[in-house]
Amino acid sequence: MNEDKPKILIVDDEGFNINLLNALLKTDYKIMVAASGEQALKGVATGKPDLILLDIMMPGMDGYEVLRRLKADAATQTIPVIFVTAMGDAADETRGFDLGAVDYITKPFNRSVVKARVRTHMHLKRKNDLLEKMASIDALTEIPNRRAFDEMREREWKRSRRAGLTISIAMLDVDMFKHYNDSYGHGAGDECLARVARALSNCLRRPADFVARCGGEEFAVILPETDNTGAMHVGELLRTAIAGLEIPHTHSRVAPHVTISVGIATAVPMSATTAEMLIEAADKMLYEAKKSGRNNVKGTQI
Ligand code: GH3
Ligand code: MG
Ligand code: MG
Repeated sequence: MNEDKPKILIVDDEGFNINLLNALLKTDYKIMVAASGEQALKGVATGKPDLILLDIMMPGMDGYEVLRRLKADAATQTIPVIFVTAMGDAADETRGFDLGAVDYITKPFNRSVVKARVRTHMHLKRKNDLLEKMASIDALTEIPNRRAFDEMREREWKRSRRAGLTISIAMLDVDMFKHYNDSYGHGAGDECLARVARALSNCLRRPADFVARCGGEEFAVILPETDNTGAMHVGELLRTAIAGLEIPHTHSRVAPHVTISVGIATAVPMSATTAEMLIEAADKMLYEAKKSGRNNVKGTQI
């Protein structure tokens, strides 16, 4: 039950202040504490708080610097930060807001005001998280959409390049899907796409593997740290999983059930290659798979 509570990180070099805020907030939130700026950054990385109450004046790294670093990192820049400080003049407050703080509470503080402000910002944070999630999920299939795919593709490409690791991408397309809609209706077509998406998701075993609906009846899978042999194996797994659903498709010229074609490309990212080139190569392989009869997997190494 404790796990469901939103998490707050309280950062202050004085134990007295930490205890005060902790006593005030601990019934509604899971509290993490840090006694310095350095500790705060570590706590954020490991604990992933939903909101941070940050003291400004601390020996070593001060609150402004902590906030600056949080804002510079994509992984932490959306966590709301409320400054809690004795420095009450307008210039200090302005500096805090300029750096991206969402609110500013001056000490000594009023208990109800602190509670109310924390509640408000936590509420906003949850709504933003939800919107962010909705904007990257495809409404029909409930798997990540094209936008999420593009973001993940860039992130994984960079990660692979930094580490010198192999990465593969699979492009998938449902065979003869126009005929499916024509024979069974658009509603049945939608239902079919949702089932295909679920089956594809269930095939992926590694946490870093990522499947998305790229549009229409096309899907894509990112396979980080996977060489061409491994990716071909996954491609075959996906192909047989969809055929194995045995969704009737009497007007397909390929099989009496719904099938997919898969194109795979593998690369070790270097400065000369780009993520777009990998996608293009996988698309070309998908075209090859279609040309050579559909319901099969073609791959290449670039
Ligand atoms: P191929 O084997 O060459 O891929 O043939 P195909 O008929 O699958 O390919 P084509 O690109 O000609 O047609 C894709 C069809 O997918 C046409 C479109 O109506 C259907 N489609 C795309 N998005 C959706 C959707 O969201 N729902 C439904 N029901 N159908 C969709
Ligand atoms: Mg298509
Ligand atoms: Mg198709």
